Amino acid sequence: MDAHLPTLPWIDTHCHLDAAEFDADRDEVIEDAARAGVAHIVVPAVDTANFDAVRRLAQRMPGGRYALGIHPLASPGAKEAELELLDAALTRAATDARLVAIGEIGLDLFVDELKSDAARAHQEWLFAEQLRLARHHHLPVLLHVRRAQDRVLKALRAHRGVTGIAHAFNGSAQQAGFFVELGFKLGMGGAMTFERALNIRRIASDMPLDALVLETDAPDIAPAWRYKSRNVPAEIPAIGCELAKLRGIAPEVVAAQTAKNAQTILPRL
Ligand SMILES: [Zn+2]
Repeated sequence: MDAHLPTLPWIDTHCHLDAAEFDADRDEVIEDAARAGVAHIVVPAVDTANFDAVRRLAQRMPGGRYALGIHPLASPGAKEAELELLDAALTRAATDARLVAIGEIGLDLFVDELKSDAARAHQEWLFAEQLRLARHHHLPVLLHVRRAQDRVLKALRAHRGVTGIAHAFNGSAQQAGFFVELGFKLGMGGAMTFERALNIRRIASDMPLDALVLETDAPDIAPAWRYKSRNVPAEIPAIGCELAKLRGIAPEVVAAQTAKNAQTILPRL
């Protein structure tokens, strides 16, 4: 990371720090992020099997936060019993200040195995049930949306009042507007750093700054300068600087406003 990047309190709103890719050097990755000025890292769960791991990890990191939820890629194995586990875990975490959201949840119609009518219907059921839990537990949601913007928007309209972050936002400008109208923030990360990503870059530069939050999705979605290598949360300031450049404003303004946005949408942050 460049030495001149401002070491302000930045926030990584989406980072899979519990992933096996970090097993060899997780503590170093956490220290690097702290040195780079990343004050908080939100670690979302993907399945009931990693609920304990994300909770423990967030609790031992100085600025650690976590979310519990069942990812659409884990939807085939998720039935009533898994939802009951989630509900119980959320109840137990009701007074845990580090639990900030339900996530990662949503719909994925990109992956072949999830596209059949039956698989899609099952994903939609699981997503709706988790939106219901979000309302019940008064928690925001972290959304995974792949080739399913309109279906996700439809589900959100059926559960008005539930807000959160549309993670790795990759829809159209019009869809971006719909998410924002429903009270959501749009997660901007590595994808925005590629010059050919015209649509995302236009959204990053044109949407009101108070609609955007920063994220890495590490170890995935590495920024252009780390293309095809492992992404890390210490990249947040450089990703924020890219957003500042796209908008023609100072990185300090991006850091302050995106941190404020993250804290507004994830009040326990
Ligand atoms: Zn994710």
